Amino acid sequence: MKKIVIIGGGVAGLSAGIFAQKNGFNSIIVEKNQILGGECTGWNRQGYHIDGCIHWLVGTKEGTKIHDLWTTVGALDGVDIYHPESFMAVEHGEVTVNFYRDLDRLSSSWIEISPEDKDQIEDFCSDIKKLHSFSVPSGKPVDMMNPFEKIKYFVSMKDIGPIMQKYGKISVKELSNKFVHPALREAIASFMPEGDYSAISVLFPLGTFTSEQSSIPKGGSKALANRMFERYISLGGKVETSCEVVELDIKGAAVKGIKCNDGKSFDADYFIAACDPKVLYEKLLKGLYNDPEFEKRYNNPEIYPLASNIYVGVGYEGEMNNIPRTLKFPVESIDILQNQKPIDYLQMTHYGYEPDFAPKGHTVITFAINQFKPELDEWEALASDKKAYSDEKIRIGKEVIHAMETRFPHMKGKLKLLDVATPQTYVRYCNANRGAFMGFWPTISGKPLAHTGNIKGLDNMLLSGQWLQPPGGLPVAVITGKDTIMRICRKEKKDFVASWKYE
Ligand SMILES: Cc1cc2nc3c(=O)[nH]c(=O)nc-3n(C[C@H](O)[C@H](O)[C@H](O)COP(=O)(O)OP(=O)(O)OC[C@H]3O[C@@H](n4cnc5c(N)ncnc54)[C@H](O)[C@@H]3O)c2cc1C
Repeated sequence: MKKIVIIGGGVAGLSAGIFAQKNGFNSIIVEKNQILGGECTGWNRQGYHIDGCIHWLVGTKEGTKIHDLWTTVGALDGVDIYHPESFMAVEHGEVTVNFYRDLDRLSSSWIEISPEDKDQIEDFCSDIKKLHSFSVPSGKPVDMMNPFEKIKYFVSMKDIGPIMQKYGKISVKELSNKFVHPALREAIASFMPEGDYSAISVLFPLGTFTSEQSSIPKGGSKALANRMFERYISLGGKVETSCEVVELDIKGAAVKGIKCNDGKSFDADYFIAACDPKVLYEKLLKGLYNDPEFEKRYNNPEIYPLASNIYVGVGYEGEMNNIPRTLKFPVESIDILQNQKPIDYLQMTHYGYEPDFAPKGHTVITFAINQFKPELDEWEALASDKKAYSDEKIRIGKEVIHAMETRFPHMKGKLKLLDVATPQTYVRYCNANRGAFMGFWPTISGKPLAHTGNIKGLDNMLLSGQWLQPPGGLPVAVITGKDTIMRICRKEKKDFVASWKYE
């Protein structure tokens, strides 16, 4: 039986492991942390559970291919799905703009806010509706398709092309400026920070959300990763945790083995790097096998931006049933770090639909504050001074609580700071380059990456994970993990076994 070593036990590594076992390989996942899941995780603090990932998952709709894939890897097997009625609500003065799941309701509520935007609103909703026929491609990767399969694939994408053309070349700001009412403008602009970000980043999430393709698996992110882990173990997969891969043994065009920080080493016939590509190319391959596609993107952060998060967990002694699950609201101004623009909006998500995430009668709330290049540099510098870093986290946490109490005065004295994660948390925990939580963000000048995971100069090592296709996220992680095993099967000249209809 051929052996596969998988570096990294995030969703991509777990997916690769599950399909490796299904296809008759003998695999082991080597993971630097104590638990598997990578960025798809959650953690307990003071009696509360902070979900660190899933705000929405593409693939929760039964009958779609991506749902079948999630079920095959055990992620959604027998799991209840929570369907929030609104993607998010954005407050602007006295007006609240809701991104309802029901497109007719979205349209009529927006027209009520701004009758003069009627034509634009209807055009916007009609374009979102065109995406309802879109199903995330989760079968064979395009480069592995035969000509017939390619034609079928491109025909299935025929409705998407015009939308890509229309929105791929305008920025989120330009899209928002098509609306007259400031609340609608603000709501759309709030999808992305100011800059060159492509309006596709607004259309696609709303397309999958309003077609019921994305919702939230109950139990959260850590439970989802655990189910995949259990599926992997049940198939005979092996795991080595608290074991960071620090060196590769390379002979000619083949990797022979890996060495870990605890002195352990593992050899295999194939190696899958299901970790951040920067770790692979710079640390493990020592810059000797750099990939021009990744280099181009790392060297042009303006065109290929990365985002990380400050992620604040707060416990509330009360229930929030009448407050939208995800809400953006204006705040007086919160300073972040020393040299950065203060933020004037906060995005909060509460987990009132998850009774087990908080003590009875309480609710856990998270706040995500996106961080980009200038902030990422500053966090990196600050992390070297432990006290200053910790003081800044606590100060931001307190400011967030103050802003929440100002917006919801009845919560005063009932909010408790649980935890503050920063971009450096993701660097330390997952070896994530710059703490990024998705791949390169789509901009109007950037070219989307479509990477096979092959590494030029190495015959038996492949890259896998969310970085291979935009915009990253969990679906790309689970798909690329599976794709990597399809590629290894092809190298081995054996049919890929999926126990799932992937054509
Ligand atoms: C706050 C937040 C919210 C998010 N929300 C969503 C959402 O709503 N929907 C969605 O689809 N996605 C979301 N994401 C993104 C999602 O979590 C990621 O896209 C996905 O988990 C990436 O999976 P991956 O396996 O490619 O990489 P990772 O999860 O980064 O896994 C890589 C693994 O490799 C390990 N590793 C790295 N280097 C080594 C080494 N040298 N040796 C051994 N192990 C190593 C790491 O510890 C990690 O476990 C969110 C992420 C964050 C942080």
